[in-house]
Order: sequence, then C-alpha cells, then structure tokens
Amino acid sequence: MNISIVVPLFNEEESLPELCAWIERVMQENGYTYEVILVDDGSTDESWAVIESLHRNNGHIKGIKFQRNYGKSAALNEGFRAAQGKVVITMDADLQDSPDEIPELYNMIERDGYDMVSGWKKVRYDNAFTKNLPSRLFNGVTSKMTGIKLHDFNCGLKSYKQKVVKSIEIYGEMHRQIPVLAKWAGFRKIGEKVVVHQKRKYGVSKFGFERFVNGFLDLASVMFVGRFGKRPMHFFGFWGSVISFIGLCIWIYLGVMKIVFAKVNMTDRPIFYIGLISIVVGVQLFLAGFLGELITRNAADRNFYLIEKKEGL
Ligand code: UDP
Ligand code: MG
Repeated sequence: MNISIVVPLFNEEESLPELCAWIERVMQENGYTYEVILVDDGSTDESWAVIESLHRNNGHIKGIKFQRNYGKSAALNEGFRAAQGKVVITMDADLQDSPDEIPELYNMIERDGYDMVSGWKKVRYDNAFTKNLPSRLFNGVTSKMTGIKLHDFNCGLKSYKQKVVKSIEIYGEMHRQIPVLAKWAGFRKIGEKVVVHQKRKYGVSKFGFERFVNGFLDLASVMFVGRFGKRPMHFFGFWGSVISFIGLCIWIYLGVMKIVFAKVNMTDRPIFYIGLISIVVGVQLFLAGFLGELITRNAADRNFYLIEKKEGL
C-alpha cells in the first residue's frame, strides 16, 4: 500500500463527507493504493455515524472510535499504530488542510528520501492575535532550541516514512513536537513544504490561547527528556554539585572569619543565608537526581534503541 492517511477528528460531522470525497478524487487521479484512517476522538455529534456510512460506500475508509475525548495526540498515536502504508500522511479533518498537497508530500518522501515532511501554512487563515502571532513566537523558539529548521511545527498536514511513525510515541499534547520527537529518534532528514491553508468551513476550532503556554512547557519537557531522560543524575547531579559547592565555600569563608576574627557574628551576615539556601537546594537537586535514576531504572524503555541496519555477519 502506498499511502495511509491519518485524520484525527473531534466533532467534525459536516466536514467528513467533503474531505473523504476530495481525498478519494486525489488518490484516484494519481493511482495510489491507500487507506484513510479516521480516528474519532470521542465526538459527541454524529461524526461516527458519518464515518460508518462512508466506510460502507468505500472500503478504503476505516474508522477507530475512542470511548471519550483523549486529545489530538492520542488520536494521531492510535492512527499511527494502525497505519499500513509505506508513506503516512496526517491532516486535520476540518478542511483547513488541502488533500491536493498529498502527491507532493508523498513524492518528497518516496522520491527525495525525506524521513518526514512538515507543511508550512505560509499564508494562514486563523485569528491573528490568538493564533498567528503567538504561533510565530512558538515556532521561532522551538526552531532555535531544537536546531530543526521548520517554520510551522504544529501544522496538521505532514508526511512520514512508515518507519518514523512506528518509532515514536505521541502522548499528552506532544503532537506539536513531532518533528522534535522524530529528530531524537534519529530521523534527521526533515523537510518542509509550503501548503495551502483555508478558513475553517464548518464547526469550531478545538484549541484556544492556552495551547501556547502548554506548547512551551511541552517544548521544555521534550528537550529535557530527549537529553537527560535516560540519565537524569547528569542534569540534577551537576547543578546540585555546583550549588552545594557554592554554599560550602560560603560556610568555609564564614567559619574562617569566625575563628580568626572571633567577634564576627555569622548569622548577622546576609551571605550566611545564601550559603544556607544553596546547601538546601543543592541537596534537593541531588535527591531529585536519585529519584529520577530510580524511575528510569524501572522504565520499560530504559534500554530502548532503534536499529537501522543489522547485517547477517
Ligand atoms: N482534534 C481532535 N481531538 C481534540 C481536538 C482536536 O482530534 O481533542 C482534531 C480536530 O477535529 C481537527 C484537528 O484535531 O481535525 C485540528 O483541530 P482544530 O482544527 O480545532 O485546530 P486549529 O486548526 O484551530 O489549530
Ligand atoms: Mg483547524
């Protein structure tokens, strides 16, 4: 099978028939073998009934339904588990992403050899103040911090080699960080394609302004876990040592002063409290490091790695 299209959706009943008809047209024009996996993320409208009737008319269209709303990341993750195509393409269900982009996204993987290609909504039809501006800031910071040259990390339209989606797990709200997760998993050929974006035709947006706070927090988590996830002590222990050492130096200094100039009252000096806090914070960091080590030691993936090639030697 050439292509699996994974579509996470939550209350998108009006858009689905149009979206599926459009996808089908593009697929037939290009002669691809394909499947469309519609992941219903616990919709409370008639989305699932619509998916069932679409499936009856076209066997390429498949559906997965969650018991309740778990979020876009969970929906994508489940779609990725089920995908069988050589190339996996994701898109939003709300008709903001155009299926006409599929052939080029497919070619960039198959012909140009990219591991993943992210869409870039260069001209964007969303609210300027709640979305476009904060999104620019988020993308700029993410790009600087991760060294991945993309303009639009959170674009719903992306394509992947099958191997990539089978190697990463998207949980929480990590769908904004997929390029970062892919990079940490060792897939470095990440490309970008300018894509057409449309105004939402039906229904309402599911994300508000809070996404940007969450987006930055997730960026911090993903950076930390990527670097120190398997060796937390190297982070906490380093800073714990530095800070405790500062505290220790302060106390030695104060101790010498006390002995040599007996009149000095140690607790009258502001620096005494800095020393005290440094020792307490330093020890706490060490404890966090030890707890982190205990947790990673028990993690199922503590020794997980991806093998790219293993010759029969
Ligand atoms: N979505 C989902 N689960 C959620 C929220 C959103 O599957 O809990 C889907 C939604 O149906 C859409 C896609 O994720 O297909 C993008 O959501 P939306 O269009 O609301 O985001 P925006 O375009 O406003 O960034
Ligand atoms: Mg949308």
